[in-house]
Amino acid sequence: MVDGAMATLRSSMASPTKPTVKKGSRHASSMESIVLFGPPGAGKGTQAQRIMDSTGLPQVSTGDMLRAAVSAGTNTGIAAKKYMDAGKLVPDEIIIALIEDRILEEDAVNGVMFDGFPRTIPQAEALSNITKVSHVIAIEVPDDRIVDRICGRFTCGKCSSVYHDTFNPTQTDGVCDKCDSTELKRRADDNADTVMSRLGAYHEQTSPLALWYESKGIFHRIDGDRAIDEITKDILLSLN
Ligand SMILES: [Zn+2]
Repeated sequence: MVDGAMATLRSSMASPTKPTVKKGSRHASSMESIVLFGPPGAGKGTQAQRIMDSTGLPQVSTGDMLRAAVSAGTNTGIAAKKYMDAGKLVPDEIIIALIEDRILEEDAVNGVMFDGFPRTIPQAEALSNITKVSHVIAIEVPDDRIVDRICGRFTCGKCSSVYHDTFNPTQTDGVCDKCDSTELKRRADDNADTVMSRLGAYHEQTSPLALWYESKGIFHRIDGDRAIDEITKDILLSLN
């Protein structure tokens, strides 16, 4: 902190004509970011919210940032839209440029929590050049448990109440507890084959990254097959 403050002082003394310190540069030294990993159905969204509440770090989702840049029509957004319209992956340079802008915002003064990024080692390397990642949290749940969680889900078509065959069934078979509707629906992609293939893709993508971050000594595996509060407690402990 003191070193950072001195550096800022020195740099502002060195260029007295400069009207303002470059946006964000003054807190670059105190910034330490978190990366959050977790397969679909592992409860990552819930834990992400709790980490944000506890640490004050804003969540940075590159998907959300891309959509925002496209709808705002920024230069980066326009460039990204060309790839998205063509059904192509948006190149890393564009994503990194978005992140570079994002981490200079005021609320990122102490770092951010990345969700859904990085997905590859080159992305992780590029990220390490623009911000310090201090902790990588991976919420782990055995595949068969995730299949159980996702595949038993169904919702009420009328009031959107969510149920589960095993964990949260309706009191009367085929009737919504809340609104008595019999319009109960299952998502077509909530079947075992689709879930297994989504999980396979997830593991294929994250295993090399996990090893990469493990080699840097900042990777934390969190057992996500427990009560929500216990998982949160472990995550917060590993962040200290
Ligand atoms: Zn209902």
